[in-house]
Amino acid sequence: MRRITIFGATGSIGQNTLDLIARDSEAYQVVALTGDQNIAQLARDAIQHRAEIAITADVHRLDDLRTALSGTGIKAAAGPHALVEAASRPADWVMSSIVGSAGLTPGLRALEQGARLALANKESMVCAGPLMLSTAKAHGAQILPVDSEHSAVFQALIGEDISAVERVIITASGGAFRDWPLEDLANATPEQAAQHPNWDMGQRITIDSATMFNKALELIETKEFFEIHPSKIEAVVHPESMIHALVGFNDGALMAHVGPPDMRHAIGFALHYPHRKPLPVERLDLVALGQLTFRAADETRWPALRLAREVMAQGGLSGAVFNAAKERALDGFIAKRIGFQQIAVVVEEVLSRVLAQPGHIDADITLDNVMNADHLARVRADEIINEIEG
Ligand code: NAD
Ligand code: MG
Repeated sequence: MRRITIFGATGSIGQNTLDLIARDSEAYQVVALTGDQNIAQLARDAIQHRAEIAITADVHRLDDLRTALSGTGIKAAAGPHALVEAASRPADWVMSSIVGSAGLTPGLRALEQGARLALANKESMVCAGPLMLSTAKAHGAQILPVDSEHSAVFQALIGEDISAVERVIITASGGAFRDWPLEDLANATPEQAAQHPNWDMGQRITIDSATMFNKALELIETKEFFEIHPSKIEAVVHPESMIHALVGFNDGALMAHVGPPDMRHAIGFALHYPHRKPLPVERLDLVALGQLTFRAADETRWPALRLAREVMAQGGLSGAVFNAAKERALDGFIAKRIGFQQIAVVVEEVLSRVLAQPGHIDADITLDNVMNADHLARVRADEIINEIEG
């Protein structure tokens, strides 16, 4: 039996992971499941999957979790320390699917245990890519990408020599406002931004798809995960979301990964790696599909893509600053404190203010330095949001 832990079990990726595990429950022992506010879901899943421990990130919800699990023999715990403790429990396979930089520390701790880490939490790579890779290496652990684009690139690279890669193209649906006139974007609401044309995902990543901050994070994730030069990485808008990424080689070959927009493919690939096993995803009917289309990713409509280029060129802790600024700006947009287009304005301004402070960006990528940069960026973002609110 394989021992499995899922960070962010109550979220969209976590639920898809549990769906796959439930189909072959005899093969897995669930060690820890974690959530945050949705205690009922967390308790239900912990009971159904006979988890050893369930953890909520919110210490104020511990009593609720204890009550929900009473009489089951399943342990309950709460808070960031309990999350890290859970990551120290021996497991063969760990899903990192907390949203935001809160997912970084548990993932690192799981790598220190030598676990195979299925990484949905792209923020880990954006904030601390070199630290993630070096920690995995030092402990004989392996990171498998679960972001659909990066799973696609990983699969296209199997058996290939990375030095023969000329370019990596990741696709973007374009999100909720792909076809909106530019002048309407100023009035776009969080409710409208949370409607994804193709994928069913958590609220935050769905809004990040509308701003293209999700794609911006993914460009940086591509650079960090595969250690590819930024000049070789492109994003292209592909409204149908059937091709997830393409890898171009020096002989002109372009290998595309094609499949329906269902995260259970990427999750299942990481779960069964290095083998392939049948997965409950739709098989594409190409004739019914008829055609696939592509457009340029316009940096006027989506300034996040330009900012991602700046971050990739800058390196160091700029990814941590970028991500944290985006997280706070997104909070500000969801709370209707700033408008849709001001998300990028806030992030750009945070980057320029933090970059103006010597030492902050060039410091080594240690967990402490990443957390400090993350904190500083949040403080600056809050200042700027207050200034905008006036
Ligand atoms: P979600 O919002 O549906 O779920 C997030 C999970 O994280 C929940 O379990 C929640 O309880 C937990 N969580 C939230 N804040 C937390 C905190 N501060 N501390 C600890 N736990 C916390 O998000 P999602 O869509 O499942 O995305 C999860 C991650 O996977 C993100 O990094 C996202 O970018 C990435 N991802 C998601 C998809 C997708 O299809 N949903 C695709 C690719 C990558
Ligand atoms: Mg993705």
